[in-house]
Amino acid sequence: MSAKLLISLDYELFFGRNAGTVDKCMIEPVEALLGVVERYGVRLVLFVDAGFVFKLKEEGAKHASLGRDYDKIRTQLQHLKERGHDIQLHIHPHWEDCFFDGEQWVIDTGRYKLQDFSSNDIENIVSKYKRALTDIVGDSVFAYRAGGWCIQPFSAISGALENNGIWLDSTVYHQGISDDPQRWFDFSQAPAEAWWRFAHDPAEVCSDGGFVEIPISACKISPLFFWRMLVIKKMGGSDHRAFGDGASMTYGYKYYIDRLTRPTSSVVSVDGLKSAFLGKAYRQFRAAGGEIFNVMGHPKALTPYALRQLDTFLSNRSELESVTFQDFKHLQ
Ligand SMILES: [Zn+2]
Repeated sequence: MSAKLLISLDYELFFGRNAGTVDKCMIEPVEALLGVVERYGVRLVLFVDAGFVFKLKEEGAKHASLGRDYDKIRTQLQHLKERGHDIQLHIHPHWEDCFFDGEQWVIDTGRYKLQDFSSNDIENIVSKYKRALTDIVGDSVFAYRAGGWCIQPFSAISGALENNGIWLDSTVYHQGISDDPQRWFDFSQAPAEAWWRFAHDPAEVCSDGGFVEIPISACKISPLFFWRMLVIKKMGGSDHRAFGDGASMTYGYKYYIDRLTRPTSSVVSVDGLKSAFLGKAYRQFRAAGGEIFNVMGHPKALTPYALRQLDTFLSNRSELESVTFQDFKHLQ
């Protein structure tokens, strides 16, 4: 049986001390990626950080450079849509608390997840962020990925999603867990299925639920890998230098200790060194009879090395059928 390939990327800046630039974190890496995937007829899903797009448009009226950034993003997203790629909703609501000081974005992630806002605010945020996307690509937005995998408790956001025509989610990954107090999630109960229906929690099957989960593919990663990653990051080298020019948020201490001391479950990803696992993760996926290989990533985290790994992977996988979420509309 042939399997389906989803490449679902979070299109966004950084949220650490330095947000980086639209050119380096979004526009240029996506162009480079298109140069690889379009040779194989593979389409992308971009989960667009719609809060940023909203903010950019609003602040663009005051700052000409932001207006130009907005135009670049709008042009790129429209171009992608015309070529059969898919544009969907990604929410980092901390944009509500950020501002542009005339030179750079001042990022405040004190309220990092949607659940940190009141229910009125959540309704308002989902609705205006979705509109920020449909204003650009039209009425084809129905899928969601929560920023930083923080989708729980789902009951706090389900009404707002439903009211705004969002019925498909792709946030969960098998055995994913984070006990960072600000950015926790727990997918330990999620089934090892290609997709399922849910109502109250995306990691729990509910056969008559109104939402559909298409999880991100996952694989086990050994501590050795994270040690290697640390060394390569320290050594640098242009092959491993990411397109993105900002700084990431950091996790709590325990997050790193866990990953450096025992095998952990990780998303299958095209980001930087994680792309080295594409082939191995795919073999595990086939051996387990998988149906949807859902590879995630971030344009900002792509490297020349990662693009080459993806190129090699795609060149040997003609049995994989490239799909986007538009191909799953029958599941609604
Ligand atoms: Zn994100």
